[in-house]
Order: sequence, then structure tokens, then C-alpha cells
Amino acid sequence: MGELANCPKCDKLFVATPAQDVCPTCYKEEQQLFETVYNYIRKKENRMATLPEVAEATDVEETLVIKWIRTGKLKLAQFPNLGYPCEKCKTLIRQGKICDQCAKGLQQDLKHLQEEEDRLKKEKTSTFLRKF
Ligand SMILES: [Zn+2]
Ligand SMILES: [Zn+2]
Repeated sequence: MGELANCPKCDKLFVATPAQDVCPTCYKEEQQLFETVYNYIRKKENRMATLPEVAEATDVEETLVIKWIRTGKLKLAQFPNLGYPCEKCKTLIRQGKICDQCAKGLQQDLKHLQEEEDRLKKEKTSTFLRKF
């Protein structure tokens, strides 16, 4: 089941579904752009192209190509240099939102936070025990 929404591109009302986040007209346009990009990148001599190179050669916005990569519409397996920037450090990544390095950093932060919390808890318990 879809729900009524305004198309983010042309503002027209349409029935949105997870697979289709723009109106049918814009979707068709997007599909054409996708084919342009896909026809470009699947040529042997363009397989090694990076995202900016693809965007420039096809005149398609990088954000759109990133969307296709994220949604899995554009499969990266055959295109070793294609990726999009990590949301934290702008390193090129090929899946998820942040790179491995940032993911590790985030985990460390969480661990520190947890340790800090545990320490505070222990302190509280010991002051509590000391009272008795
Ligand atoms: Zn539209
Ligand atoms: Zn990163």
C-alpha cells in the first residue's frame, strides 16, 4: 500500500511507495537518467570511472547516482572505483552511511560512554554501601 505524497521534484501529488519516491513522470525521467548512466558505466573503458567522472560524462547529478547505489539499483560489484562519500569523513564508501574507520570510531565512543556509565554506577553503589 502506498500513501499520498507530494513529489519531492515537481511537487505533484502522487501515491508513494518504498520503491517509488517520486511521481510517475519524474520516475520515468529518473529511469531515463539511470539508463544513461548505466549505458555509460557498463562500457568496458568506463568501468573504472569514479562518481564525479560518471556525473560529468552523463550530466546526471551525483546525488542521484548515490541514491541508486544506496538503494541497490546500481550494483557496484562490476565498478571498482564507484562509491560515495562517508557522511563523517568523506572517504569513498560503497555501502552503508559511514566508512569502516568511522564505524570503528563510533563503536569506541559508545564503549567509552558505556565504561563511563559503569564507573558512575559503581561509584554510586560504593557511596551507597559506605553509608551503612
Ligand atoms: Zn514529480
Ligand atoms: Zn568515514
